[in-house]
Order: sequence, then C-alpha cells, then structure tokens
Amino acid sequence: MFDIQRFTAASDAADAVRLLREDPDAVLIAGGTDVLIRIREGKLPDAHLVSIHGLPELTGVRRTPDGTIVIGPATPFAVLAADPIIQTCLPFLGEAVSRVGGPQTREAGTVGGNLVNGATSADSAPSLCALNAQLVLRSADGTRTVPITAFYTGPGRTVRRRDELLTEIRILPEDYAGFAGETVKYGKRAAMEIATLGCAVMVRLSDDKRTVRALRLAYGVAAPTPIRCPQAEAAAVGKPVSTALADEIAHAVLDEVNPRSSWRASREFRLQLIEELTRRAFRAAVIRAGGAI
Ligand SMILES: Cc1cc2nc3c(=O)[nH]c(=O)nc-3n(C[C@H](O)[C@H](O)[C@H](O)COP(=O)(O)OP(=O)(O)OC[C@H]3O[C@@H](n4cnc5c(N)ncnc54)[C@H](O)[C@@H]3O)c2cc1C
Repeated sequence: MFDIQRFTAASDAADAVRLLREDPDAVLIAGGTDVLIRIREGKLPDAHLVSIHGLPELTGVRRTPDGTIVIGPATPFAVLAADPIIQTCLPFLGEAVSRVGGPQTREAGTVGGNLVNGATSADSAPSLCALNAQLVLRSADGTRTVPITAFYTGPGRTVRRRDELLTEIRILPEDYAGFAGETVKYGKRAAMEIATLGCAVMVRLSDDKRTVRALRLAYGVAAPTPIRCPQAEAAAVGKPVSTALADEIAHAVLDEVNPRSSWRASREFRLQLIEELTRRAFRAAVIRAGGAI
C-alpha cells in the first residue's frame, strides 16, 4: 500500500511552484522511482504529492540559438538517450543513462530526479559534472542557477530548498563543443545494478590531436557526493597524449578522491577501480576525439 494523503497534478511549472509554496508538506514526484519506494518503506507518511510527470515544459531536449543545450529535468532516461541532440552532441551522457536499472526504470525515472535525490551513485551525475551542468531552480521567490559542482552538500543532500523546482539542466557551448567524452560504470552485473563506481572523462585535443588542451574528470561513489578532480585535470593540460599520461592522470586522481567501504566494495577496491577506470575512459575519450593512444 502507498500511504498517499493528497495527490495533485501540476498543470505547469508555475503551478508546481505555487503548490510547493502553499503546502509546506508537499513533495514533488516526477517518475516516482525513488519517491514511491520511500513511501512504501514508510519514510514519507501521509504524503502530499505534487506531480510534474510528463509536463511538456519540463520534458525533452532543445538547443538555444547560442548553442546551449537545455535538458528538461522531467525527461525520462529512455527519452534522453534517444534524443538526436544528445546522440549528436553528448553521446556519452546518453550512454551513461542507458545503464540505469532496467527498461522499466529507464522509461519512468527522470534525469532531474536522479540529480535531486543527491545520490553519489546516480548514473547521470558523473557526465553532468564533467559537463559543468548549470541547474536552474525556481521557487515562488524567483529563479537561481547553481553549477552542479556546487549543488551537492553531502550524501543525499543538495542546496535545493524544498519549495524549489528544478526547471532546466543547461550545458553551455564552451562545456561541450570540441570535447569528446567517455563514461564507465562498474557494477557486479550489467543491468539492475547501482554503480560501485562511475567515471566520466572529457577531453579536448589540439588540432593535430597530439596534445591535451582541456580535460574533465568526474566520478560517482568516489566520495560522499559526485566529484570532479580539478588538480589532475589542470596537470594534464598541455601534455602530449600517451599511455604514460593516462597512467599519470590515473595516479593523480587518487589524491582527490575519498571513497568509502560499503557492502558493495571496500575503499581499497574502489581506489583500484578509480585508477583503472580513469585510464580506460581517458584512452577511449582520446580515441573518440580523433587521437591515437
Ligand atoms: C529498480 C530500480 C533500479 C534503479 N537503478 C538505478 C541505476 O542503475 N542507476 C541510477 O542512477 N539510479 C537507479 N535507480 C534510481 C532512480 O531510478 C533514479 O534516481 C531516478 O532518476 C529518479 O527519478 P524519478 O523521476 O523517478 O524521481 P522521483 O522518485 O519522482 O523523485 C526523486 C526525488 O527528486 C525530487 N524531484 C524530482 N524531480 C524534481 C524536479 N524537477 N525538481 C525538484 N525536485 C525533483 C523528488 O521530490 C524526490 O525527492 C533505480 C531505481 C529503481 C526503482
């Protein structure tokens, strides 16, 4: 049984924001793949739900005239992965969300819910951190934009206030143009598995494809929140592409991560994964960027 006292389907984003302000107990529901589990476990008694499920204003992907890619947070994973803009400009993000759960979860679960739940294991988080995603939060007081790197405050916690609706996930042109990316998810099996470790690497090479011009390294489950490794990123800039550089980067990130031991894996195993997955993702990203390694 689901202990739901009140369910209101918002007519649009403005209506959702109003409903959140009027009812201090209201909780948003998009795909419900997290919220309904919390309700069934008794963690949200007498729930007052405000649904944004399928709102056109919050669903889909578009590109603005300046090249910014705007992802609607209520876009289900399956829709995101099949979107032509994602397939052309951010294929690694589409691949990452194609590894979420199984087909039913990918049809129902949304990319916005995946970020807002604050999980370090969220499959969309490493790619969106590497992409410097800008998160637009709207409340009755107005709108603010928070870089994803400042969004997470701890395990399951973010800077989002209860009455704020995530309305847009924005990727600026300078954060994807000229980059190639690769993501790796490590789990004990290929489907229906929460990540033991997630890794996203983006690289921009010089015109002759021999030198690293820019590097982005992002991880899930390598720390209490999804993280970037800015020191390792900066240290690689200007260096020639080589297997030695892949090893150097893979070692360097170990100074910036802080994984924990859990029933899924020990800290030591996660450190080994971080090193190896970084090496593999860097190589694959370089090849995607037209380089040789
Ligand atoms: C069987 C199963 C397997 C799974 N496997 C994976 C997996 O492999 N990888 C993975 O990353 N996740 C996995 N998940 C978790 C889940 O599917 C995701 O976290 C999902 O993205 C949540 O999105 P949703 O739309 O279902 O969120 P909901 O359950 O509707 O909401 C989640 C949270 O986000 C809030 N919220 C939702 N949308 C907004 C918004 N626009 N603005 C503000 N707040 C919002 C809600 O209030 C709630 O707090 C799995 C879940 C299940 C049930």
